[in-house]
Amino acid sequence: MADIIQLLPDHVANQIAAGEVVQRPSSVVKELLENAIDAKATSIKLIIKDGGKTLIQVIDNGIGMSTTDARLSFERHATSKIRFAEDLFHLNTKGFRGEALASIAAIAHVEMSTNQADVDVGTQIKIEGSTIISQEAIVTPKGTSIAVKNLFYNIPARRNFLKSDQVELRHIIDEFQRVALAHADIHFEMYHNGNEIFNLPLANLRQRIVRVFGPKTNERLVPVEEHTEVVKISGFIGKPAFAKKSRGEQFFFVNNRFIKSPYLHHAIINAYEGLIKEQTYPSYFLYFEVDTASIDINIHPTKTEIKFDDEHTLYAILRSSVKHSLGQFSISPVLDFDRDKNLDTPYAYAQKEVQTPTIQVDANFNPFHGEKQTVSPGMKTSFRKEKSTNWESLYTGLKADEEETGFNEIEVESAEVSGNLFESDIHEDKITRTTYQIHRKYIVAAIKSGMVVIDQYKAHQRVLYEQFLKNITVKEALSQQLLFPLVLNYSVADMALIKELSETLSHTGFAFSKIEDEALEITGIPMNVAESEVSIILEQLLVDFQDGIPDSGFSQVDLLSKTLSKTLAVKPGELMNTGAQEALVNDLFACTEPELSPFNRPTYTTITVEELDKRFL
Ligand code: ADP
Ligand code: MG
Repeated sequence: MADIIQLLPDHVANQIAAGEVVQRPSSVVKELLENAIDAKATSIKLIIKDGGKTLIQVIDNGIGMSTTDARLSFERHATSKIRFAEDLFHLNTKGFRGEALASIAAIAHVEMSTNQADVDVGTQIKIEGSTIISQEAIVTPKGTSIAVKNLFYNIPARRNFLKSDQVELRHIIDEFQRVALAHADIHFEMYHNGNEIFNLPLANLRQRIVRVFGPKTNERLVPVEEHTEVVKISGFIGKPAFAKKSRGEQFFFVNNRFIKSPYLHHAIINAYEGLIKEQTYPSYFLYFEVDTASIDINIHPTKTEIKFDDEHTLYAILRSSVKHSLGQFSISPVLDFDRDKNLDTPYAYAQKEVQTPTIQVDANFNPFHGEKQTVSPGMKTSFRKEKSTNWESLYTGLKADEEETGFNEIEVESAEVSGNLFESDIHEDKITRTTYQIHRKYIVAAIKSGMVVIDQYKAHQRVLYEQFLKNITVKEALSQQLLFPLVLNYSVADMALIKELSETLSHTGFAFSKIEDEALEITGIPMNVAESEVSIILEQLLVDFQDGIPDSGFSQVDLLSKTLSKTLAVKPGELMNTGAQEALVNDLFACTEPELSPFNRPTYTTITVEELDKRFL
């Protein structure tokens, strides 16, 4: 039999390696930025076109390359960073595999200009699909510029697999932020389609974080500092009151390399226990310095996971330093690290003022029923403008109590109703028209065939969803003008998203007078929204659109309407007066699709008289 094994030609091997190294434009961004840092650059510029599909260019002022090195840099396993296997245990550079440039050059059109000193003549190399097209001597400043064009031009399947420009840009921004946060001592700039997205001058860490995430961030940070023999921890954590619904701003760096560690993440979350609401996540920007010999970076091709020698010790140190910082800045209720958890003040009461005890009788209390629903602080939705309060105070738990004992009732906007359940379905008898709210969660009413039980939250979501969908499509939503413009601050990345959505948002009744830098100026809001809810809505929008804005106009409108409806609908636990109950029932059955919530959950169920009869046999 003839021999059949062959060595793969280099360009094929490179293309295969590229599959691992380059998943999407953001992977190229990461590799190029890291190379610039390894080249000791103090200023790095990232230029992107069309979400990185057309162009990714990184220009640095680092040490540059000689002509021979420039050519060699595109070979596989060509690296200046390690020589011996032992070097792997003392890595001080980001790269070391010598694979990135070879892989990138296999699947794109690459142009590199590099020079080791301003006075010398530099080198320019053009390479396409691993083939060198040209090499010339050129005049270029000290440093290196690498332009990667038409990524995956020769692998249509990979190119078609890329998401919308917006989604790819989001991934690039994530990668850029990770690198920029790890190197506050380097000047970074980023441009997309000619617009400046970031300009981050040299700064200390705190200033860098604030530059990246917006001016509001400053007051939200608490420093963490801990030096031990095994690890030096520094950085900042977010104050508990500013914990977010999205996981966004959580950053771990080990020796200035961004890493993911679910285990150490857990240590932090654990330290926040009892201080933040469920389903919210604190921000953190934490930097570990450890002996390079005590970690193994070579565990994952994209290198965001690393292995520590002694993870358990790190866990304990991290947890206690975070607790310590929270305590030191009087955010944590108790300082004792080994306290009994049961004695901790629950989050909702941490800032509550002392009140004279009064006797309260809950006439609805029934020990045989399940847990009583309460209004969750911060989730409250009101439909009456007068009720708007400083939304931060909603987090104290006081408001929730008032809601529980007071007679604050919710009025649901009642649109013109085309179908009336009561009239069409049941006798014109006064009593049977009555609706009941049970457990502040369900609305019960009699109908011809028996009874209907409506889930107030899900039903209201459906009503609002269809309303927003219609308003946005026919562009005739009513807007209420604000007396004073509302100014909210967001990070540059979030702002870019809001800008993108602003037109669609304006069809819901929002009006913006300024969407710039980090400040959003709002002059008008939808009719059925209270001013105090605006920031909650926008935060939810940012969470829901985290993975980018859908390409098609419809799914964008659909997602926006879903977000608005889930944020604004009457939550379980909210008391509804009879008028509101009745309006909700009528509005629901006037919907095009009353059976399901926008998230495909049933909105109501019916029980027939026969079914009831059977129970009494
Ligand atoms: P690695 O970074 O793992 O060494 P790369 O393929 O990313 O592998 O780069 C190969 C080599 O090219 C690097 O080791 C370095 O010597 C050189 N190089 C790449 N980018 C730059 C740059 N921006 N400035 C100077 N040298 C560079
Ligand atoms: Mg590299």
